[in-house]
Amino acid sequence: MKRDSGYSTMAAQQKQEEKLWDAVKTSAMVLGTGLLIFTAFMNSASWYVQKIWETSGNFWQTAWLNLYNLFEGKEWSLFLFGAALVPALAFWCFNGILMVADVTGKPTFITRYRIQLGKNDPVDTKKLRQAIYTALFNQFFISLPMLVPMFHVMKWWGNTFSKELPTFQWFLVELSIFTVTEEILFYYSHRLVHLPLLYKHIHKKHHEWTAPIGVVSIYAHPIEHILSNTLPVMTGPMIMGSHIVSIAAWFSLALITTSISHCGYHLPFLPSPEFHDFHHLKYVPALLSPPSCVLSLLTKLLLENDLCISREACAAHLLADQNAIRAIKQSFGLTRFLLTSHLTASHLADFCASTSADLETSKAQTHS
Ligand SMILES: [Zn+2]
Ligand SMILES: [Zn+2]
Repeated sequence: MKRDSGYSTMAAQQKQEEKLWDAVKTSAMVLGTGLLIFTAFMNSASWYVQKIWETSGNFWQTAWLNLYNLFEGKEWSLFLFGAALVPALAFWCFNGILMVADVTGKPTFITRYRIQLGKNDPVDTKKLRQAIYTALFNQFFISLPMLVPMFHVMKWWGNTFSKELPTFQWFLVELSIFTVTEEILFYYSHRLVHLPLLYKHIHKKHHEWTAPIGVVSIYAHPIEHILSNTLPVMTGPMIMGSHIVSIAAWFSLALITTSISHCGYHLPFLPSPEFHDFHHLKYVPALLSPPSCVLSLLTKLLLENDLCISREACAAHLLADQNAIRAIKQSFGLTRFLLTSHLTASHLADFCASTSADLETSKAQTHS
């Protein structure tokens, strides 16, 4: 009996080990296949992007050289143009469109994606004017003077005004480093200004807008504008000694991204701003964005449902995503149709050409 039970225990153990081994094999296979598909996708995606970049690379290089010659290589002028004017134009053009929607409620395709329904519908123009003044003040009297020490750091690196543009791959590497640096610094500086004493005297101004709009992204106390808005964005390029063209692209991207997270609309194709919108509405320090893109993305995915401000907003948000997915599917379908119809047409043309060539040859042979 004892021996039997010993055998059965051993058999059960063996079975369990086999099961475990099977599970390991299955997981390895799934992970391996996933990794392979992911790598293949990334390789082909980066190959296509690289090809597009190579094709247009000459255009960008020529454009940069033209600009360099236009400014006669004056580094300070080039720096002001790339690090101040281009990002400011990107910010005000993007926010200009959002402000039209906030003030007039038009175009309706934007306003139907509003997160906090009934808020800023239309926006209080007196409050808006005040936000614009503060934003302009921060850009002119805080961000602009901060470019002076940055310019000297960049000159020390000696690469910022090079006549040769960085490669596309290097720009992508830099962009990832800029993003991670900005997320970490923003997270800790934002936590800092949420300390009761600092909140009362500094960060409260930014939180006056419980339903934020795009321009509110830089509506902040000067100290907050230095600590949370400007330094985190400037640090990446200063560590990397980046080219002015990369700085211009990064600053513009950072300003547009922060405008999106304050815009108050969950627009299709754009990242959801509900996370930061909720932070403004409820003022919950625990919901500050976490210090990395991956963590931030994960938290957003895990907490998104809890962060829906109202059932209506949640429905609008889901509808926005569904519409975006439908539009992507439709554009894929159209591209596939165009590609296949193009292939069919070109095959048909090839076939016709070869048939007529054959016909000509046989005619010639018959005559001879
Ligand atoms: Zn805050
Ligand atoms: Zn904010």
